[in-house]
Amino acid sequence: MAKRDILIIPDKRLRLKSETVKSVDKPLRALVDDMFETMYAAPGIGLAAIQIGVPQRVVTMDLAKKDEAPAPQVFINPEITWSSAEQATYDEGCLSIPEYYEEVARPKKVKVKFLDLEGKEHEIEADGLLATCLQHEIDHTNGVLFIDHISKLKRDMVMKKFKKAAKRGEPVKPGREDDVPEHHIG
Ligand SMILES: [Zn+2]
Repeated sequence: MAKRDILIIPDKRLRLKSETVKSVDKPLRALVDDMFETMYAAPGIGLAAIQIGVPQRVVTMDLAKKDEAPAPQVFINPEITWSSAEQATYDEGCLSIPEYYEEVARPKKVKVKFLDLEGKEHEIEADGLLATCLQHEIDHTNGVLFIDHISKLKRDMVMKKFKKAAKRGEPVKPGREDDVPEHHIG
């Protein structure tokens, strides 16, 4: 296992549409191991492969709270098959946009189809944080970021800040005082 670097905006690779995984094999399982190591180290509760520069439709997640046992989940080729009309709002953050949080409204419930690490197909109905996190990560596999769901004014401000930091060669690092992993959806 190896911890990998997480891409930060304005890295253009974050805008790539990831490719469908064709076979759940050994290299894919190695990628998933690296994703978990990177996600836990961040710390974050979700990660899409493109965030470590691999344009494959793979998502790792662990929504367990601090005092709970780890609950790693893997979603290969995740796809939303249904979304509720009812919306829910969550204060989202992203490991690729450190130190920025904004409320995003999304469908409250979704049904998601995916493959597990054995290549077996599943479909689940998700609600609450799982629904938010799945939508956030599936967006990543399509080159979409959570700031695409907020106002253009706010998005432009965030992009400007990160572009400036990148130019200076000083990436914006996470770590504000009230930082909690729950914020770092991934
Ligand atoms: Zn993210």
